[in-house]
Amino acid sequence: MKNLWAPWRMVYVESWSESPNGCFLCDAAGNPSREKLVLERNPHALAILNLYPYNPGHLLVAPVRHVDDFSLLGEEESVGLYRTLLKWIGQVKSRLKPDGLNVGVNIGVAGGAGLPQHLHIHVVPRWRGDTDFMPIVASTKVMPELLESTYQKLTQDS
Ligand SMILES: [Zn+2]
Repeated sequence: MKNLWAPWRMVYVESWSESPNGCFLCDAAGNPSREKLVLERNPHALAILNLYPYNPGHLLVAPVRHVDDFSLLGEEESVGLYRTLLKWIGQVKSRLKPDGLNVGVNIGVAGGAGLPQHLHIHVVPRWRGDTDFMPIVASTKVMPELLESTYQKLTQDS
């Protein structure tokens, strides 16, 4: 599939290469900002909008620490990660009102992880019929305005 016009990919590549250890999640955790689409950063976890969304509102929840598997997390980190996950599942449901959700983890390159070194949980809101347009949305149609508008919907005081 071709990328017709996707300037946000440049930002992504830039922030990736500027990351001290080449990890955009560590970069976001170390310097959380709206510009980096960070929704929340607490002592143990962060939530961040995915720059490569399958659907509007596709976000990632990750431990702050750069680890590649659940088994490497301490108890407090595990609880913090889980609480953050539950919070943002709740935000997605109440703010974006999807018909359903996918929550999933890809571990390791063979498991399909785009960033296998830093564990992250995908939260993907789903709407009836969205598979019809998903391939297009995923690779060509997502604009910065859409990410900004999703960020606002998920974070503004209601
Ligand atoms: Zn990392």
